[in-house]
Amino acid sequence: MNTLYVIGIGPGAYKKMTIEAAEALKKSDLIVGYTVYVDLIKEHFPEKEYMSTPMKREVDRCELAFEEAMKGKTVAMICSGDAGVYGMTGLMYEIGVRYPFVELRLIGGLTAATSGAAVLGAPLIHDFAVISLSDLLTPWEKIEKRVSLAAAADFVICLYNPSSKKRQDYLQRACDLVLEHQKPDTVCGYVKNIGRCGEEGHVLTLGELRETQVDMFTTVWIGNSQTKNIEGKMVTPRGYRNV
Ligand code: SAH
Repeated sequence: MNTLYVIGIGPGAYKKMTIEAAEALKKSDLIVGYTVYVDLIKEHFPEKEYMSTPMKREVDRCELAFEEAMKGKTVAMICSGDAGVYGMTGLMYEIGVRYPFVELRLIGGLTAATSGAAVLGAPLIHDFAVISLSDLLTPWEKIEKRVSLAAAADFVICLYNPSSKKRQDYLQRACDLVLEHQKPDTVCGYVKNIGRCGEEGHVLTLGELRETQVDMFTTVWIGNSQTKNIEGKMVTPRGYRNV
């Protein structure tokens, strides 16, 4: 059987990759991924062969990885964060049905929700919901329903894909839905470029978040009714008594 790794490389910096991921990359002949992620790791594995495809060519990228594995190469398909969180793992299994001689080996990674939480404080210490605001593959009405119900249930909400050039007001629309259930001074945060050059974390209120423009390299956290700002950090209490 030929081996095809599906690897979450973490948020960006080499030191935030798991040891298991680095070891699998060392064992690989060919590394396949979206251009931005290939550029992040190239300097640490310069002797490898690389192939990249642009964004929105996900099916092509997966097929390419399987075709190269069929040639006898050990191939690594890389994704940022965890490949099983808005990444390629699901698609790799679906396409893998056509390649019975290739064995998939998955290596989990540090996802933006938790790596960014460590920049902001402790926003996810209690129940939380993770929602992507990208409507490329999910109807916007369904996204709205999920945001609304998560806010009504007082979950902390972590938003992936909060913006893009075509979806500039989606974060504002999500904030408006949360504001139907939570107060404008609810503690929120966002982190741009987690674990990468230019990392920037901000703690602010829901009212302020509504007026903020973020980009696609940003993840957003909206607190629940208990979340506090403790000396500039976003902290959701777990509920311990006598603190
Ligand atoms: N598989 C990735 C998520 C891919 S979806 C993971 O587990 O983290 C892409 C979205 O993830 C981005 O729009 C952003 O919201 C978030 N994201 C991924 N890496 C990030 C980083 N280094 N800094 C900030 N946000 C990031």
